[in-house]
Amino acid sequence: MKVLVVNCGSSSLKYQVLDMPSEELLCKGLVERIGIDGSVIKHEKIGQDKFVLEVPMKDHTDAIGHVIDALLDKDHGVAASMDEIGAVGHRVVQGGEKFASSALVTDEMLKTVEGLNELAPLHNPANLLGIAACKKLMPNTSMVGVFDTSFHQTMPAESYIYALPYEYYEKYGVRRYGFHGTSHRYVTAKAAEMLGKKVDEVNLVTCHIGNGASCAAVKNGKCFDTSMGLTPLEGLVMGTRCGDIDPAIIPFVAGKENMSFADVDTMMNKKSGILGISGISSDMRDVEDAMAKGDKKAQIAWDVFAHRVKHYIGAYMAEIGGADAIVFTAGVGENSAPMREDICKGLEALGIVLDKEANKVRGEEKVLSTADSKVKILLIPTNEELMIAKDTYEIVTK
Ligand code: AMP
Repeated sequence: MKVLVVNCGSSSLKYQVLDMPSEELLCKGLVERIGIDGSVIKHEKIGQDKFVLEVPMKDHTDAIGHVIDALLDKDHGVAASMDEIGAVGHRVVQGGEKFASSALVTDEMLKTVEGLNELAPLHNPANLLGIAACKKLMPNTSMVGVFDTSFHQTMPAESYIYALPYEYYEKYGVRRYGFHGTSHRYVTAKAAEMLGKKVDEVNLVTCHIGNGASCAAVKNGKCFDTSMGLTPLEGLVMGTRCGDIDPAIIPFVAGKENMSFADVDTMMNKKSGILGISGISSDMRDVEDAMAKGDKKAQIAWDVFAHRVKHYIGAYMAEIGGADAIVFTAGVGENSAPMREDICKGLEALGIVLDKEANKVRGEEKVLSTADSKVKILLIPTNEELMIAKDTYEIVTK
C-alpha cells in the first residue's frame, strides 16, 4: 500500500509517499509560500531530478491539489490514480492527554483535536487545515493523525506537573506535554535494535538536537521525562528559542524594554537561542564558521548549547537510574561531530566515553562510544515520516 505522509504548517507543507510495509520511499516534496505570492512546489521522485513548479496557491486545498497532480504526473509521479494511495498519515503536533497513540481521523477525533488548538495555536490549526484539504480532495481515503505528544503520555506526574497552583493543570491543562515524540519513539526502537534488546528493555537518554531540540529520558522503552513542556519553548537551547530560563526574567525584561506579553513571547521563541546569543544566525554551521574566525559570542552560544544538553543527559541518567545508551539525532546531533564531542566531554565520569575516531561521521547509524564505555553512544538519523507511515499502515489495515 502507498501511504502519503503530510506535515502541514501554516504556509508550508512537507510530504512523502512510502510503500508499506516495504518502507520504500517513493517520492518527497515541499510546498512553500501557501497563500503568499510566489507559491512553489518542489517535488522529487526518488532517483530523479527535482521538479519545481511556481504556481499560485491561495490555500491548503490548492496546495494539496498540486501535490496530487505531482503524485499522478506521468514523468515525476508515483501512482497512476489516487486509488493507489491507500491512506494518508498526518503529523499533528498537540494531542494533549486525549491521544496516547496515533488515531484514525474521524469527525469526533477532529473535534477533539480542535479543542486542543489553544495549547498549540501555531501548529494544530495548520495541521487541521492539511487534514481538511486532504479530506476534501480524497474523501474516500482513510486518514490517521500521528501526534508529537503521544510518546510522552507515559510520563509520571512527577515529571509533568509544574510547581504552580494545581488548579491551572485542572482548569487549563497546564502541564508538561513534550514534543518531537515521533522522533524519540523512532530512535528508541532503532536503539533497541542496535543494542540487541527488546524495546521494553532499553533505558536511554535520547537527544533530538536540531533547530528545535529536546531530550527524553526513556525507561523500559517508555518516556519517563522530556525537556519540552507545555509548549516547545522549554528545555534545551534551540536555533531561536531560549529553552529554560528563570521565569522572573519575563516581567523584569518586559518592564525594562516596555514589552507586551506578545513581544516577550516572540523574543523568547524567535530571537533567542543560538541566534540570540551569537547575534549571527540560528544555524549551528554559521556559528561554527564564526567561532573559527574567533567570534566570542558565537563561542558562547556553542558552549551554552553543549552545556545544556550535557546538563539534561546527567539529570536524565539520574532520573532513570543509568542508561544503556545516549542517542544523538536530528540536524545537529546527526551532523556535527564537534558538537557531539563537546557534549560528551566530562561525561566519562558517568561511564559515557566517546570514541573520537568513530565520531568522525555524519548521518549514519553508528556506535560512537569506545568498546569499554559502560554506556553506549549511538548516532541514529531520525525518520519521523517513516514512523507516521508505519502507524498509518498499521491502523488502516487493522
Ligand atoms: P533539523 O531541525 O533537525 O532539520 O536541524 C537543522 C539544523 O541542523 C540546522 O539549523 C543546523 O543548525 C544544524 N546542522 C545541519 N547540518 C549541520 C552540520 N554539518 N554541522 C552543524 N550543524 C548542522
